Amino acid sequence: MSCSHGHATNSYPELNYSAGAKWIKNLTKDRLGTFNGGHYSDVNLSSVLFTHRVDNSENIKLKVWSAPGLTKPTFEEAMKQKFRSAKKTNHWWKVTVTIPGYWAQYERVQFEFDPGCEAMIYSTDGTPLQGITGGFGGDRRVEYIIPPEARAAGIHEFIIESSCNGMFGVPWNGDTIAPPDMNRFFSLASADLVVPNMDAWALLWDFQTLQELVDTLPGNTPLQNNALTTANEIMNVFHKGDPSAVRQGRKLAEEVFGEGWEAKGADIYNDGPKKSNIWGIGHCHIDTAWLWPYRVTQQKVARSWSTQVDLMERYPEHRFTCSSAQQYKWLEELYPALFDRVHEKVISGQFHPVGGAWVEHDGNMPSGEALVRQFLFGQRYFESRFGKRCETAWLPDSFGLTGALPQLIRGAGLTYFFTQKLSCNVFPHSTFNWVGIDGTQVLCHMTPVDTYTAQATVGDVNKGLTNHKNLESSDTALLVFGNGDGGGGPLAKMLENLRRIRATTNTHRELPPVNMGHSVDEFFEDLEKSTDEGKKLPNWHGELYLEFHRGTYTSHGSIKKGNRHSEILLRDLEHIATLASLYKFHNKDYIYPKAEIDESWEKVLLNQFHDVLPGSAIGMVYDDAEKLYAEVKQDGEALLEEAFGILFPGSVRLTPKTKLKSLGSSAKIVAYNTTPFTRWDVVKIPLYGASAGLKSQVLQASDDSKAGYAIMQSPAGSAGCLHTPSNALHAHLKPVSVYTNGSDHFVLRNGSVQLTISQGRISSLIDVKLDRELIPEGSTGGLVIFQDRPNYWDAWDVEIHHLETAEPLAFTNVSVVSQGPLHASVRAQVKYGQSTIDVTISLDATTATVKDNSRSLFNFDAIVDWHQRHEFLKFELPLNIHNDNATYETQFGYVQRPTHKNTTWDIAKFEVCGHKYADLSEFGYGVAILSESKYGFACQGNVMRISLLRAATAPDAEQDQGEHHFSWAVLPHVGHFLESDVPMAAYLFNSPLRVRCLPSGVSDIVSSLKSPFVVEGARNVFLETIKRGENDSFDAPADFETEGNKSTTTVVLRLYEAFGGHATAHLRIGNHVSVTKAFITNLLEDEEDELNIVRAEDNGGSTLKLTFRAFEVKTVKLVLGALPKTSTKKERRTSWVKVDQTQMFSF
Ligand SMILES: [Zn+2]
Repeated sequence: MSCSHGHATNSYPELNYSAGAKWIKNLTKDRLGTFNGGHYSDVNLSSVLFTHRVDNSENIKLKVWSAPGLTKPTFEEAMKQKFRSAKKTNHWWKVTVTIPGYWAQYERVQFEFDPGCEAMIYSTDGTPLQGITGGFGGDRRVEYIIPPEARAAGIHEFIIESSCNGMFGVPWNGDTIAPPDMNRFFSLASADLVVPNMDAWALLWDFQTLQELVDTLPGNTPLQNNALTTANEIMNVFHKGDPSAVRQGRKLAEEVFGEGWEAKGADIYNDGPKKSNIWGIGHCHIDTAWLWPYRVTQQKVARSWSTQVDLMERYPEHRFTCSSAQQYKWLEELYPALFDRVHEKVISGQFHPVGGAWVEHDGNMPSGEALVRQFLFGQRYFESRFGKRCETAWLPDSFGLTGALPQLIRGAGLTYFFTQKLSCNVFPHSTFNWVGIDGTQVLCHMTPVDTYTAQATVGDVNKGLTNHKNLESSDTALLVFGNGDGGGGPLAKMLENLRRIRATTNTHRELPPVNMGHSVDEFFEDLEKSTDEGKKLPNWHGELYLEFHRGTYTSHGSIKKGNRHSEILLRDLEHIATLASLYKFHNKDYIYPKAEIDESWEKVLLNQFHDVLPGSAIGMVYDDAEKLYAEVKQDGEALLEEAFGILFPGSVRLTPKTKLKSLGSSAKIVAYNTTPFTRWDVVKIPLYGASAGLKSQVLQASDDSKAGYAIMQSPAGSAGCLHTPSNALHAHLKPVSVYTNGSDHFVLRNGSVQLTISQGRISSLIDVKLDRELIPEGSTGGLVIFQDRPNYWDAWDVEIHHLETAEPLAFTNVSVVSQGPLHASVRAQVKYGQSTIDVTISLDATTATVKDNSRSLFNFDAIVDWHQRHEFLKFELPLNIHNDNATYETQFGYVQRPTHKNTTWDIAKFEVCGHKYADLSEFGYGVAILSESKYGFACQGNVMRISLLRAATAPDAEQDQGEHHFSWAVLPHVGHFLESDVPMAAYLFNSPLRVRCLPSGVSDIVSSLKSPFVVEGARNVFLETIKRGENDSFDAPADFETEGNKSTTTVVLRLYEAFGGHATAHLRIGNHVSVTKAFITNLLEDEEDELNIVRAEDNGGSTLKLTFRAFEVKTVKLVLGALPKTSTKKERRTSWVKVDQTQMFSF
C-alpha cells in the first residue's frame, strides 16, 4: 500500500505560534486618513510632494499695479499702468521667474500662486493661459506649469490678474439667511517656484482612488477589500527618506488598477467592457451673475475655459461642454486670442457648446416669445461662429421648468434635454420622455449623480447606477463633472481619478464602467437608440415643478417688472417697426432697426438668467440689471417713436403734458392697437388748448378739469380713433358711479359689476347682471401680510408655514377720486410698520373685452413705499367658487394646479408661478386676477392670492426696499374659464394702448387701412408676434416691388392656441401687403411647409388656412414681392400702399 503523506510537498506549515492576520477592518479604514496631510504631514506622503521650493526675490520678481475701486480694466489698459515692486498684495502682477539650471533634470517646474482668491495667468502678449483658484476649497488650483521652452531659456515672464473675489464672488460664509460680507480682504498666501515630485503626486492620486473605492463599495465585495489591503500596504512600505518607497507604492496600486495601466494613457478607455453605463463629460457651471456681477463672470469665463483648453492638451480624452451663447460672445469680444483657442477646440470636437440658448434662463417667468428668442439668439450665435447648432437643451439649475419648453426646444432644432434641479424633489424618473402641454416630447435625462458639479469620484460614478430611478428602462447616466457655479471646471486630479476608475472596472465588475471622449449629444443619441426611440421610457406630462425656491416668483419686484414691460415693449416695437419698414408713404429711407432691436433683446435675455430674474443675486447685480432695463426702455421707446413717425407722420405721443393747442385746431387723437384683439379703452386727454371738436368727444372731465375721459375704440392690430358721445354711449357702455357714506363704506359700481369696501376691507363683489355675490358671507378680501422667515435660502424660499401667520390689512383714508360716468376710482391707504401702501381702485364704463357678456374689471394701482424685512405682502380674494384646480397662465398656454392638499405633491404647490392671469372657475362662473408685473400666485381652497412684495435680506440685504409701482386687476366672468375672455383681457391689461396726437393738416393714411394681419374663425388662436425675418437684409430700405431686386423681404408671424383645444383659423392678410409665398417655419425660421395662399377675387387681400392642436405654437413666414400683374396693372403706384376707401373701417 502506498501512502503519500510521508512525501508532503505542501509548504503549509505544521506548526503555528503566530497571532494571525485577522484585522479590525474599521481601524485599517480609518488609518487611510492619516496618509496625506493632517497631523503627520511632515512624515507622510505630503512631505515628499515637492522636491524644491523657492520664494526668494532672486528667482521670483513681482511687480504690481492695483486697479482703483471695483473696476475691472482690460489687459491692454492694465499694461499701460505703472507697476511698482511689491512682495505680496493685490491685482495686476508682472512676474519674472528665473529657473535654476540644475532643475532641467526634473519632469516639471511649476509656479505656485495662491492669492486666496481667483486669478488669471496671461502670456505677456495678453493671451489668457489659465485660471487660478486660491484658498483651501476642493476647487483649489494654484499651479501654473512653466512651458518647456521657458525652462530651456531659464527665464519666464508672464502676467497675473488677481480678482478680489473667491469662486463664490463676494465671499459668503454659506449662511443662507445672512447677507454676504462686502468688505472681506484676501492676502497672497504663496508665490513660489516649485519642482513637484510627480511620482509622489501620482501615488497620491492612486491612494485617493483606492480610498474612494474603500468608502464607496459595500464591505463584502472583493474589490473593496482588495483596495483596502492595497492602500494599507502602500502605507506600510512608505518611508519619507526612501525615494524607492513611492515607486513601490505605485507598483502595489497596480494590484487594483491592473498591471501597466498607466502606460496606456487615454487608451485605458478602449480596454475592458464595450458598453459603458456612465458617460463622463467635463463641465463648468458659470452662473452668469449671482454672488458676483456680470463683469466678474466675463473673467470667470476666460479663467475657466482657458484652464480647460490647457487640460485638453495633456488629457486627450477630455471633453468639455459649456452652454450660454452670451458667455461665448463675451469671450469673443473681451478675450479674442482665447476665443480663437476655444474655437479651435470646438472645431476639433473637444470643446462642446451645448444648450442652444442665450443664457441658462429661468424656467418659469420668461414669456413664451422670450423663450423663443433665448433659443433663436443662442442657436444663431452658435451656428454663425461654429457652423453647427446645438442638439441638447441644457438647464441644470433653473428653479422649475414650464411645460411649454418641450415644444419650444423641438421647435428650435433641439431634441434632447438635460436638467438636474428636480433632484431636490422626490421625482420618480431619471431618464424619461418629457411631454409638454401641447404633447411635444423631448428626451430628458436628469442625472442620477444628482449634481452638475460632480468631483468625478468613485462615489459619483457609482451613483450613476445606484441612484438611477428607472433602470428597468435605461441603464446609462451622464456624469457631469467639474467645479462649478462660480466656474472652474474639471481639475487634472479628476481626470486622473477617472482613468484609475476606468482601469479598475476594466478588470472588476463591482463598479459601472465610465467612458470619456464623447459628447452629451452622443450620450443622448445612444439613449435614443437603446430605448427604442424613447418607447421603453416612462413619460412625464406637463411642467417640472420645483418644490423649492417659490419666493423667486416675487423677490426683486423691479426685475420682474423690468422683464415683463421690456418683453411687451419689444413686442410692440417689432410690430410697429415691421409695418413702418413696409409702408412707405412719405419716407422711403426707413430701415427696420434690426441691430438695435437685437441689442435690446440681448439685454432682456441676459437678465433672464436663472439667478437674476428670480431675484436671488446680490444687490450689485440688480444695479446692473436695472440699468439694462432702463436702456431697453429708452432705446425701445425712441425706436418706437421713430417707427410711429413713419406710420403717423408728424404725430406725437399723447401724455398728460401734451400741448394740444400747438398741434392746431383740427388735431386728432388716434391710437395703435398692437394686440390681436379689438379693444376699447377709456383714455385720459389733457384739455388745455383742446379744440372744440376734441372737447365734444370728452364724456367726463377730471375733478380738476385739466383732463377729460373719452372712449377710444381700436380694431385688432390696427389704428383706433375716439368715439363721439352720440355713438359711443351705445348699449355696451356701462356708466360707472361711486357711492359712499362718507367715511368707511364705498361702493364702486356699473351695470356689470360692483365692489364694496367696508371698514377697510373688500366685503362684497357682485355680478350685477346676475345678482350674484362672489365673496362668501363673513369673509373679506384685500391686502394681507405674512411673516416670511424661510428655514434656508432667504431670497429663494418661502415656506409653507408663512401661511399660518396671515394678518389682514385694512384700508384707511379711503376717498373718492373720480366719480364717473366713464371712469370712477377711490384711493385708499395702508400704513404698516415703516411702510406706506397707496392703492387706487378704479372701474371703467367699458367691459374688459368686446366679447358678448364680458364684465368690467376692477383695476388696482399700487404705490408702495416698502421698508419691511422678512414680511410678505399679498392681495387676497375669498370666492364663492369651488374647484379642485385653478388655472394659471404659462408660456403660450396655461397650467392647472390643485387648490387642495391631498398629497405632498399638492401641498408643495402652495405658491406657484403664473404670468398674466390666474383664474378660479366652476361651471357657469369664475374670477380671475390679472397681473402686469407679478408672477407669484396661490389658490388655496377658495382663496385666490397674488404675491406683491417680499423682503429677504440675503444675498441682497436691501432687497425690495424703497418705492414700487405696480398694478393688478380683478375680473369676474360669466362661464367657466374655457368659455371666458380671461386670456384676452389679461393680454390687453398688459399691453398699453399707444395713443398719439396727429397735428392739423396731416393725412392719416394708416387709420384708413384695414389691419394687415387678422386671425379669423378661431377665438382661441392668438397672434403673438409680428417681426421681420431674421435672414432679411437690413442694409437698405425694404424693396419688394422692384422686379429683379434680389434682396428678400419677409415678415414672420407667431401664433399660438391659447385655450387648449384644436382650431382651424384663417389668417387674413390685407391687400396692401403683397405676399408671394408663405411658409410654416420652425422657431429658427427654417422653412418647413409651403402654405397655399388663397387670394380674394376683388383684390381684398389673401388668406392662409392654419390648423392648430391644443397649445400649438406656429411660425408663419410671408415672402413679400411684386404680385403677378392683374387687372390693376395699368395703375401706376406712387407709394407701396394703396389707400382703398372700401377698407375704411367703421363701428
Ligand atoms: Zn446656477
